[in-house]
Amino acid sequence: MSTAALLQVDGIHKHFDVGHGAVVRAVDGVSFSVGAGETLGLVGESGSGKSTVAHSVLGLTKVDSGTIEFEGLDLTGLRRNELRGVRRSLTAVFQDPSGSLNRRRTVAAIVAAPLVAHGIGDRKARRARVLELLEHVGLGPEFLGRRPSEMSGGQCQRVAMARALATGPSLVVLDEAVSSLDVSIQAQVLNLLRKLQRENDLAYLFISHDLAVVRFLCTQVAVMYRGRIVETGPREIVFSRPLHPYTHSLMRAIPLVDPVRAREQISVTPARDAIDMPTVEVGCRFRTLCPVGRDQEICRTVDPELKPIERDHAAACHFPQVDEAAVVAAGSIPASLPGSDDAGDNRLVPDV
Ligand code: ADP
Ligand code: MG
Repeated sequence: MSTAALLQVDGIHKHFDVGHGAVVRAVDGVSFSVGAGETLGLVGESGSGKSTVAHSVLGLTKVDSGTIEFEGLDLTGLRRNELRGVRRSLTAVFQDPSGSLNRRRTVAAIVAAPLVAHGIGDRKARRARVLELLEHVGLGPEFLGRRPSEMSGGQCQRVAMARALATGPSLVVLDEAVSSLDVSIQAQVLNLLRKLQRENDLAYLFISHDLAVVRFLCTQVAVMYRGRIVETGPREIVFSRPLHPYTHSLMRAIPLVDPVRAREQISVTPARDAIDMPTVEVGCRFRTLCPVGRDQEICRTVDPELKPIERDHAAACHFPQVDEAAVVAAGSIPASLPGSDDAGDNRLVPDV
């Protein structure tokens, strides 16, 4: 990685005790880094542990072990009030557009809240800053007095993004931030995220179950499966030469031409099977679904470590599948999603 690591996550574990002696190993030894101005896409089926990683990074969940360093500071050792200071530079946008915003408050109050919490500016300066932030996300001053119930999902996510940007963060964690939006609105918001990243020199930890949106936005990709990262590397390399049989199975579900249609059609096919699969106590956790390793002794007995196979490209697999690359042959990555105007005005037409 060429940029200095802004966020460095090392070997984090988070297990949940779910009663009757059962434990869910939601995050089971995860390491990754995000460089300044970079976007890491964390992708995987539902239940693979992505949100638990997000919550751990944001200090909303306390990890069992491992370290999370942000701007050189180990967050795992910080107390709640110490974390508050960090949250000025490390902010978040979550999935449910209206649920993550206080329904009773106006847009003006919602976007100003982080400024008030961190004691930034007086009332007049905050109002000016809120107007500026709304303009950045393509919303005019007429939105100041509105409440979440009076706005569309896309408009709510723009407000959530304005709030996330208020304190001038260096990293924004986006957990399924576009997943509940209609496809055309999703495209607009993705393009907005790109624009805001360029304008504000932001890094994103972009979490999604949807490979097509990850492919659109990210510079680095990490594929998560049942609490582990099973493959990681630069976007172009992972998408053109996937190594892990699980990544192959995800990618086979992607139509390569149109990412908006891809988003509609993609189903992370092995998801349901994998969730129902009994816990693999030893060996590779993907092996019972794996076309390659199902009958291999080493896959039954040895849990593969995530290790570099090519430069910058790592996989946790005893039999990385270099040759199957043809399956996902070089589909071009579009510069912009259809149905939106990346360079132009991102303002939504109200009620469309
Ligand atoms: P993802 O975001 O990838 O869908 P999550 O991180 O939400 O995955 O969940 C990973 C696993 O941890 C799932 O099996 C989920 O049921 C479990 N889990 C998450 N949070 C809790 C919790 N608070 N208590 C018990 N189990 C949890
Ligand atoms: Mg989640």
